[in-house]
Amino acid sequence: MNPPSRRPVRLRSTWIWIALGVLAPLGMVAVCSVMLLELRQDAWDRAEQTSTNLLQVIERDIDRNVEIIDVALQNVVENLKAYDLEQITPKYRQRILFDRAVNARDLNALLVLDQHGNSIYDAAGWPPRRYNNADRPYFQAHKADPSLGLGISGPVVSRSVGKPVLILSRRTGVPGGSFSGIVLGSLSLSYFDRLFQHVKLGRDGTINLYHADGTRIVRHPVPNSELAPNFADSPNVQRIVREERGSFIGISPSDGIRRLYTFTRVGDTPLYLTVALSTDEIEAGWRQKALVIGALVIALCFVAVGLALLVQWELRRRNAAEAELAQLSRTDALTGLPNRRAFEEAFGRAFAEACRRGGPVALLAVDADHFKRYNDRYGHAVGDRVLQGLARALSAAACRPTDFAARTGGEEFAILLPGTDAEGAAHVAERVHEAVSGLVVEAEGGSVGRITVSIGLALGLPRQSGTLADLFGLADAALYEAKAMGRNRTCYALMDAVHPTSIAVEA
Ligand code: GH3
Ligand code: MG
Ligand code: MG
Repeated sequence: MNPPSRRPVRLRSTWIWIALGVLAPLGMVAVCSVMLLELRQDAWDRAEQTSTNLLQVIERDIDRNVEIIDVALQNVVENLKAYDLEQITPKYRQRILFDRAVNARDLNALLVLDQHGNSIYDAAGWPPRRYNNADRPYFQAHKADPSLGLGISGPVVSRSVGKPVLILSRRTGVPGGSFSGIVLGSLSLSYFDRLFQHVKLGRDGTINLYHADGTRIVRHPVPNSELAPNFADSPNVQRIVREERGSFIGISPSDGIRRLYTFTRVGDTPLYLTVALSTDEIEAGWRQKALVIGALVIALCFVAVGLALLVQWELRRRNAAEAELAQLSRTDALTGLPNRRAFEEAFGRAFAEACRRGGPVALLAVDADHFKRYNDRYGHAVGDRVLQGLARALSAAACRPTDFAARTGGEEFAILLPGTDAEGAAHVAERVHEAVSGLVVEAEGGSVGRITVSIGLALGLPRQSGTLADLFGLADAALYEAKAMGRNRTCYALMDAVHPTSIAVEA
């Protein structure tokens, strides 16, 4: 029997290790992919949250400023209606009209224009600076539409300060009355530069302020290359104006960079603010991590596959070595025949099989006659060669696939003949005697002479009577009988027979 192995059978299978070698790396890759996707999502969520927070703060500031300027404009509109201003001294008139304007920090100029576009009152002092703004689109717009309310223009170069400004304006006069002019305030674009200057959005991040007509009012950190570029045709700008609030990924029409746009409308104004972060920069940190983690996981996969292959190779080698050892432990080194242990196992199996199926089992106990003499006369080496010759002779005589010849002791052999009856077994015994008598073993000074064996043949019908030991004992007894009767012969014993019978072999 095989010695019991301490390793569980399943782990000894090389296929298990191949499967582990494939499944473990696959599992690692799957877990790592999920993890990396989640990390990527986190990076995007963070970018969107940062943009939204920034938008809210900036939008609130701009909206507040617009509101303060609008309050100043409305104050002028109201006071133009309430007083007969021409009758008041310029000093008081200035105070009545423009008192509120001092609260609006970023208000550059505050002027009242008459119906012809001429400046008639100026917050800067009396007499007013003389301008005619009848040509300006905001003037035309108020003239054309009495219900316009607060107008906010695109960027224009101020005639009073010579710098780019936004013009906030309201129509003067009574509602429903004829056009009597406008009041306007100018908000310097430098206000936006000041607002944005400390915002860091990475190398390619931008903040843009658009007018509803598609004009880009300001751009940070890279300013507009011209005063009022118009992007009304850009799908990005159209979407921002249409949806008013939200986010999307798009390609910038001015520099072709892919960005995450987060946008909002500034209060109720026609101004739209966007914070746009480069998608490359959003993913840069994640990409670096993904590269390191990915490389590590791939390396680990290779290690796992390598280890699995190594274990599988080692298992194969061990299994082969174990099989070889098992084979060796059942083989007689001198003759190459199965040894006593292998014989006992085969005998046990054959006996059990015969018990199950019925049928006979024949056993031949074979012993070399006067073997001691070869050793004594020619030496051990020659004795060994005689034993090897005997092994060849026995193997040749027991030639059926189920026949089993073994060396069971020093110069003792056994032949097991499962399913063979008395006649067949006697035939085999005869062939053994014949084969042995034909053996020629050379020694110093010629051949060792004639070699003979005695055989004890036992035949049993295991299902009917006797045990394995009985059959063995019977064969031994028959062999003893053969020796006693003069050697070079076969004696027979049946399992249920009391006395073995003897047949001398003709020498
Ligand atoms: P008998 O006819 O009664 O069987 O006499 P025998 O001489 O064959 O029997 P005995 O039991 O007296 O001697 C067996 C000898 O076989 C003794 C032992 O030295 C020798 N022998 C046992 N194993 C080996 C072996 O592997 N090689 C050699 N050369 N001799 C062995
Ligand atoms: Mg002997
Ligand atoms: Mg012996």
